[in-house]
Amino acid sequence: MSITPLMPVYPRCGVRPVRGEHCHLISEDGRRFLDFASGIGVNALGHSHPGLIGAIQKQAETLMHVSNLYGSPQGEAIARRLVDLTFADTVFFTNSGAEAVECAIKTARAYHQSAGNEHKYELITFNNAFHGRTLATISASSQEKMHKGFLPLLPGFRYVDFNDLEAAKAAIGPNTAGFLVEPIQGEGGIRIATDAFLQGLRALCDEHELMLVLDEVQSGVGRAGTFYAYEQYGVEPDIMATAKGIGGGFPVGACLATEKAARGMVAGSHGSTYGGNPFAMAAVGAVLDVIPDEAFLADVRAKGERIKARLEQFIGNYPDLFELVRGRGLFIGLKMKVEPRPFVAHMRDNHQLLTVSAGDNVVRIVPPLVIDDSHIDEFMEKLSAAAASYQPEEVV
Ligand SMILES: *Cc1c(COP(=O)(O)O)cnc(C)c1O
Repeated sequence: MSITPLMPVYPRCGVRPVRGEHCHLISEDGRRFLDFASGIGVNALGHSHPGLIGAIQKQAETLMHVSNLYGSPQGEAIARRLVDLTFADTVFFTNSGAEAVECAIKTARAYHQSAGNEHKYELITFNNAFHGRTLATISASSQEKMHKGFLPLLPGFRYVDFNDLEAAKAAIGPNTAGFLVEPIQGEGGIRIATDAFLQGLRALCDEHELMLVLDEVQSGVGRAGTFYAYEQYGVEPDIMATAKGIGGGFPVGACLATEKAARGMVAGSHGSTYGGNPFAMAAVGAVLDVIPDEAFLADVRAKGERIKARLEQFIGNYPDLFELVRGRGLFIGLKMKVEPRPFVAHMRDNHQLLTVSAGDNVVRIVPPLVIDDSHIDEFMEKLSAAAASYQPEEVV
């Protein structure tokens, strides 16, 4: 037998974390890493946050799980807080981002089908998008590397270029149900939707009675410097998926919708055994106690600007290595002129700095939102040392 007990679908690196302390991870062999990856934008409150620990501990002692067949005071309270903080009127809780996107897709289809428009099932999505790893969410992505071996895909998706409003408009047909889009593509390389693009999609939806479905699984919950990234565009979605940061590390997501958009989501139409159980709601409550606060979000924006300014100055020293810096809040991409993966590995293995690579030759810089200036200094020191000692293998 040569297959590993953990199904070998991840090319795992040699770092084996066993403990987290605020913005650092400690590995099995005792090394201490600065965590500017945050479990891919999940640990918004860092590791070992007292509020999150306290809420989870207290809930574990009180009530961890009951079925959604019962009334949920915990879920009602958290849904109410999300409704008050966002465009939405109603919330379905899930256990992951992909499930939140699945629910968003179902909600968009049901919106049309509940009105007798069975033919309006197609969502227009965008090249280089990432929406998750379920069959529906890989079908929603144009990325062939995620399709390979898992065909046939689910019908009902059509891909056009991101930020190409004319292409999006031209793709609308009799079967179109709406658009599914990340306001800032995460896996795709911190590619930011232009104002004209997102506002244009909203206008097309209004004109053709389509659903604007946002995937804010990565861009949401303060990551981009506002509670949700859509707030920066002056548009509101009809449906939105959120996850990652919303549990601060506890596996939970949610699909949010307006009352109108959710008209097809009626008793018996959708469900989840664990979705929104008291344990998950306690974690979300602890996150919501911190992140939506305007002063906290202003601080995220300020820290993001400081990192970007320092990065912009820094990359001038290495014109052969780095191309540009982009991002919003603490959702930052450092675009390289070389393959980013080996550099990410070099920073990790030789300088104890954790980041994540993304599409378009980008190093993703997604620290906990609770970093302070000492972490920014430590980050710049490690990054500078890593760049100074780096020998790129190939130029792309
Ligand atoms: C991570 C991510 C998902 C999938 O979330 P999972 O929790 O891994 O299922 C979906 N959409 C976007 C934009 C993501 O970044």
